[in-house]
Amino acid sequence: MHIRQGLPTSDVTAGKYPTYQLGSGWNAMLPERPKCSRTSIRRFGTIVIGGGYTGLAAARRIAEMQPDQPVLVLEASTIGEGSSGRNSGFVINLPHNTKMGGHTSPLEIARKQIRLYDAGLRWLEQVVREHRIDCSWNPAGKFHAAASDSGVENLSVSLAQYREWGVNFEEYDRDALREKLGTGYYRYGFHSPNNVFVQPAALIRGLADSQPSNVVLIENEPVIQLSESSPFRITTSEAEYMADRVILANNGFAKALGILRDRLITIFTYAAVTPRLSESELKKLGDTQEWGVIPANRLGTTLRRVHDGRFMVRSAYSYEREQSPSDTLAQLTSCYQRRYPNMKAHDFEYVWGGTTALTRNGATFFGELRPGLFASLGCNGAGVLKGTTYGKLLGEMAMGAQSSQLSDALSLEGPSWLPPEPIRRIGVVSSIKYQAALAGAER
Ligand SMILES: Cc1cc2nc3c(=O)[nH]c(=O)nc-3n(C[C@H](O)[C@H](O)[C@H](O)COP(=O)(O)OP(=O)(O)OC[C@H]3O[C@@H](n4cnc5c(N)ncnc54)[C@H](O)[C@@H]3O)c2cc1C
Repeated sequence: MHIRQGLPTSDVTAGKYPTYQLGSGWNAMLPERPKCSRTSIRRFGTIVIGGGYTGLAAARRIAEMQPDQPVLVLEASTIGEGSSGRNSGFVINLPHNTKMGGHTSPLEIARKQIRLYDAGLRWLEQVVREHRIDCSWNPAGKFHAAASDSGVENLSVSLAQYREWGVNFEEYDRDALREKLGTGYYRYGFHSPNNVFVQPAALIRGLADSQPSNVVLIENEPVIQLSESSPFRITTSEAEYMADRVILANNGFAKALGILRDRLITIFTYAAVTPRLSESELKKLGDTQEWGVIPANRLGTTLRRVHDGRFMVRSAYSYEREQSPSDTLAQLTSCYQRRYPNMKAHDFEYVWGGTTALTRNGATFFGELRPGLFASLGCNGAGVLKGTTYGKLLGEMAMGAQSSQLSDALSLEGPSWLPPEPIRRIGVVSSIKYQAALAGAER
């Protein structure tokens, strides 16, 4: 297992930013990242808190729109070690949740989101191409697959939505799935083209390293305090900065700075990647070089055959705290074994956990919280593209731009209220247990 070499936490910094027991496997596959710079400048027009997809997209747009003004990005960890470098690398341009629309119909909300994500994907691809970011970009689409009756039912609901949205898909029965995925575990599934695979740590590093020259990126410097109003005082583990404008892009950890405490929860989920497999073992994983499966239940297991001959499994959830690496290893190994009992071994080279910020109604907070304080928080899982799209638009909004995309993003409902602790913990933990039981064979 790859042990993370990160910032030590102290009483002052504990809980203010994510810390993990194990490093990101994707990041460990890349060359060591050079030590980052520091700055002696203390006053900025804009400071971005968090260097994930959201923060780096916002910083890029602000820096492009104000090329003569420096923009500071403060990142608590090393780029590649945050959730942006810990995810499964599915860049999905379809909505996850279409219920949060106030008085608008789910179809109208879905269409707005699809327009937003399509535009976000075009922009991301353009940045990747322009800067030659080597992140194994592969527009291979994605499978959704079900092993149980309830899973098949869930997929039929998704397909009814796809039909309504005009999204293409191809259905697969057990035999056709076995040919594609090499396992008879799934009874039914479909493939849709709305996904690009990436090596997520390579993508986020590339996005960081290709920022405009007026972006100052400081890594391993967590923000531990943020004042109420503009000019904002931003206290980090190392220094104190001032900014007229702040972009909050630290996802669930905005809570620790006193923001949206009654709207956001942090859920950990877990992933593991095998070593490169031999040709004979790879043959057992179907006939395509790269594919991925999204589960038919939200607490199910994601699979990905990676183009370089590795295999990835993602599953399991825990509330606010990372579970033990030995539990994670046991759970992910079992997911792998149940689907591929015929593999010679079920060893992983890397195992790790990561955080996602969830809200009760699945909505993201997007917009201006207070004058000069802009935020996009609570991506609810599918945040690679959502974070990118909303981060870009948030940067444009902070610069006073107007557009139909911005109006669409602002028209979506925000996160709903969550009860305080300990009721919240009891509710979320029981819901995880209940949903996990419902997920059955999809886990
Ligand atoms: C195992 C796993 C698999 C996933 N798979 C997928 C997938 O396949 N596709 C998908 O779309 N999404 C996936 N996700 C979710 C996705 O990773 C997130 O939604 C996405 O990273 C959100 O981007 P973000 O920039 O908003 O937040 P983050 O990526 O969390 O970035 C926020 C950054 O802020 C930093 N930060 C936090 N607090 C502070 C502070 N106080 N000061 C300074 N910096 C701070 C963090 O270190 C972090 O780097 C997965 C997540 C996990 C954990």
